[in-house]
Amino acid sequence: MGSVPIVLSEPSARTATMSDTQSVAEIADEARDWVIENWDPAMSLGDWWQRLAGAGYAFPRWPALAGGRSLDKAGARAVIETRRSVGAYGPPNGVATFLVAPTLFQYGTTEQQERYLPGIVNGTVRWCQLFSEPGYGSDMAGLATRAELDGDEWTVNGQKVWNSGAHYADFAILIARTDPDQPKHKGITFFLFDMRQRGVDVRPLREMTGDAAFNEVFMSDARVHERDRLGDIGAGWHVAMTTLSHERNPENPGLSETAPFGEVDLSMPVGEHAAAEARNVDGFSLSLSGGGGALFDRVIDETTGGSDPVRRQKLVELGAMRQIARWSNARAAARMKAGGQPGPEVSTQKINGAEMGRRMRNLGLESMGADGMLWGDDTPTDGLFHRYAMFTPASSIAGGTDEVMRNVLGERVLGLPREPGESDQREKPWKDLPRG
Ligand SMILES: Cc1cc2nc3c(=O)[nH]c(=O)nc-3n(C[C@H](O)[C@H](O)[C@H](O)COP(=O)(O)OP(=O)(O)OC[C@H]3O[C@@H](n4cnc5c(N)ncnc54)[C@H](O)[C@@H]3O)c2cc1C
Repeated sequence: MGSVPIVLSEPSARTATMSDTQSVAEIADEARDWVIENWDPAMSLGDWWQRLAGAGYAFPRWPALAGGRSLDKAGARAVIETRRSVGAYGPPNGVATFLVAPTLFQYGTTEQQERYLPGIVNGTVRWCQLFSEPGYGSDMAGLATRAELDGDEWTVNGQKVWNSGAHYADFAILIARTDPDQPKHKGITFFLFDMRQRGVDVRPLREMTGDAAFNEVFMSDARVHERDRLGDIGAGWHVAMTTLSHERNPENPGLSETAPFGEVDLSMPVGEHAAAEARNVDGFSLSLSGGGGALFDRVIDETTGGSDPVRRQKLVELGAMRQIARWSNARAAARMKAGGQPGPEVSTQKINGAEMGRRMRNLGLESMGADGMLWGDDTPTDGLFHRYAMFTPASSIAGGTDEVMRNVLGERVLGLPREPGESDQREKPWKDLPRG
C-alpha cells in the first residue's frame, strides 16, 4: 500500500504555509472577520462544524483536506484564540481528531485519507480505539484478537475492553494478531474497522464517576476489507506506537476545548449544544479538553483556597509544576519544529499531568470543604469540580499507566536494563508464550 504522509506545518521539509506569507496579526484579523461573519449560535452544530472545516479554521495546523490551513503553531494559536474571543464554539474533539487523524497523516494511503479525514474534521463520523484487551492492557503486544485473511477481506474474532466512546462510534482503529507464529510485536496488523456491522457487540461499562464512557467490545466473525488495512501486514505495532505517541502528547493539534466524549446531536442549534455541554460535561471530557485547570483556578478564586498558609504553599508548588509543564511542552514543540520527533518528555509529561491532576483534586477539595462532596445544579461549580475529581485516578491509567511510563523512561532514557524475562518474550513466537 503506497502510504502518502500528509505534510504538516512543523517538519523542516515543509512546503510554504499560510504563516510564511502572512503575519500572525494578519492571520488573526482575517480569522476574526470570518468568525464574526459566520458564527451564529442558532445554526445547527453540524452546519457550524462543516463551516469551520470548509474554511480551514477547524484544525488550523492541518492541511485543507483535514479542515486546516497548514499554519504553524503561532498562526494556529492566533486563529483559535480569535475564535474563542468571539465566543464561537470549537471543532469536534475525540479519538477521531487526536488519534485517528494524525495516524492517517502518517500511514494512510491517499485513498484512505480522502475517504476518512473529511468526516473526522466535520464531526459526522465518530471513532473509537480498539487496542486494550482483558489481560493485555500494559502488555498490549500480547493481544489475542485474531484477524485472518479470507479473499480480500479479513475475519476478526476476539474481545477488547475499556474502549471509550465505542457505544456511539461508527468506526474504530483496531489492532489484531495476524501471524501467531511471529514474536508478539511482529505479528500484529492495524485496521480501520466498521463498528456498524453484524458481529460487533458493544457493552457499556459503568464507572465510579456514574458515567459509562467506555465499553467492552466483542467481535465474532466481523469483517474488514484489505483496503482498510493501515500500514503493512505485521507492522501494526509501529502504527499503534505512533497513535499512542499522539495520545500521550498534550500539545496534540487534534485536541480542542470542546467535550471529546458523549453523544452529540448534529441537528441541535450549536449555541444550545454549547450551553448544555458547559452544564453537563463529564469528568473524562473535562480532563482531556484542559477544562480541569480552569475549573481548579475557579475553585481557588471562589473559596478561601489561597488564604490558608499550608494550602498556599501547596498552591505555589502546583504553580511551579504547571510552569515546568509549559516549558517542557515548548521544548518538545521546538524539537519538532527543527524536524525531530517527540522525545522522552512526552512520557514525563504524561506522568506529570497525572500528578498535577491529583494535586489539583486534593487541593481543590480541601479548599471547598464539605461542599466538595456535592454535585448537581446549585452546588459550587455546579458539581463540575466533583466530576473532575472523580475522574482523576483514570489519568494515571489511560494511554499507559504511570508505572509503564516510568519503565519507558528507565529503559529508553536512563538506559537501565529491561525487565527480567522480557527479551525472551520478545523473541519467542506469540503462540508459544504463556497466556493471561
Ligand atoms: C479512562 C480510560 C479510557 C481508556 N480508553 C481506552 C480506549 O479508548 N481504548 C483502549 O484500547 N483502551 C483504553 N483504555 C485502557 C488503557 O489503555 C489500559 O487501562 C491501560 O493500558 C492499562 O492496562 P490494564 O487496565 O489492563 O492494566 P494492567 O496492565 O493489568 O495493569 C495493572 C497494574 O499493574 C501495573 N503494571 C502492569 N505492567 C507493569 C510493568 N511491566 N511494570 C510495572 N507495573 C506494571 C500497572 O501500572 C497497573 O498499576 C482506557 C483506560 C482508561 C482508564
